[in-house]
Amino acid sequence: MPVLVMKFGGTSVASLDRIRRAAKRVGVEVANGYNVIVIVSAMAGKTNELVGWVQETSPLFDAREYDAVVSSGENVTAGLMALTLQEMDVPARSWQGWQVPLHTNSAHAGARIEEIGTENITQKFGEGMRVAVVAGFQGISPEGRVTTLGRGGSDTTAVAFAAAFGAERCDIYTDVDGVYTTDPRIASKARKLDKIAYEEMLELASLGAKVLQTRSVELAMRYGVRLRVLSSFGEQSDNAGTLVCAEEDIMEMNVVAGVAHSRDEAKMTLISVADRPGIAAAIFGPLAEAGVNVDMIVQNISEEGRTDMTFSCPTDQTLRAEQAMQAAKEAGEINFHDLVVDDAVAKVSIVGIGMRSHAGVAAKMFATLRDEGVNIKVITTSEIKVSVLIDRKYMELAVQALHDAFELEKAG
Ligand code: ASP
Ligand code: MG
Repeated sequence: MPVLVMKFGGTSVASLDRIRRAAKRVGVEVANGYNVIVIVSAMAGKTNELVGWVQETSPLFDAREYDAVVSSGENVTAGLMALTLQEMDVPARSWQGWQVPLHTNSAHAGARIEEIGTENITQKFGEGMRVAVVAGFQGISPEGRVTTLGRGGSDTTAVAFAAAFGAERCDIYTDVDGVYTTDPRIASKARKLDKIAYEEMLELASLGAKVLQTRSVELAMRYGVRLRVLSSFGEQSDNAGTLVCAEEDIMEMNVVAGVAHSRDEAKMTLISVADRPGIAAAIFGPLAEAGVNVDMIVQNISEEGRTDMTFSCPTDQTLRAEQAMQAAKEAGEINFHDLVVDDAVAKVSIVGIGMRSHAGVAAKMFATLRDEGVNIKVITTSEIKVSVLIDRKYMELAVQALHDAFELEKAG
């Protein structure tokens, strides 16, 4: 029998009633002839509560015990989902990560999946079980300890199961009905996409569109897993969601697929550093060691052997970044006149595979921002993306203007 993976996020299993609603959708697919692997998240808010308990108990916690605690939310929903299905006379049982087994490395709190053993579940399907309910987000390390995959990790669990079992599709049920051209809370003209290419989704996810964990999209792209994002509310009939698939499977597409934004950005500039070989390494090495996620980087032209170096990072990391730079200065590794922090900036990006073959997309973006009187502070580009850093107070305006300029309200 063909296998389907269905993943239910925290809001879709937030109460017994919602679990029942989700179980009904599973029942429909079983009746359609699928063996189903259901991946569940913890009930909405549960993981946050568990993380809070750990931090309150032990601020410098042992990550192995953190995983022991925070993985437990998924155990509850897996068991409840299996019970609910049994009450509906659907043959089902629950599996914790270690029982499957889902092997990971030992990087507790952010472990990577190494292998999924398919024998146990396959054997049960052979014996007439129709639904394997698997606790998302968790696995087992080579040392035999429970691990978790990082926040939002049950998306990655779902895609990994779809790849391991050769599933026909991986359906991600969530509280939105698909992937939009931009955040509908910012631009009322935002349109739900029927399809989006893996690479576009990957950019959008890493740029802050929170529908899918970035790693899950990476994995889907690598293994060619057809991924569908859809709402677990609404009627099933008019609920096709968004299919994340290979570029070749999309007939018509806009040059720009979507506009992404990220609000909590900061810009930091080291004024007058020596322009010499190794200066970038001397700056960004200590920042990396301090755990600062540097995103954009600009080095100015130098004058008389000195230059300014600007970079961006999340606002909540500016303190750490400042400390790392002062320490490097005191250690004599770098020298600068001043460190200027601007923590009232935001990043706005346009993403689209069509940019590869269309000239002038970046120019159009810049002209649009000019017409709105928005000053651009930093620009970065990749093959399928252009990002700009602007004053945060213009973020909504910029998103709306770009959405209009590229006519994203119209299908390709
Ligand atoms: N429950 C975990 C979290 O909230 C994993 C997930 O839901 O994807 O991060
Ligand atoms: Mg999630």
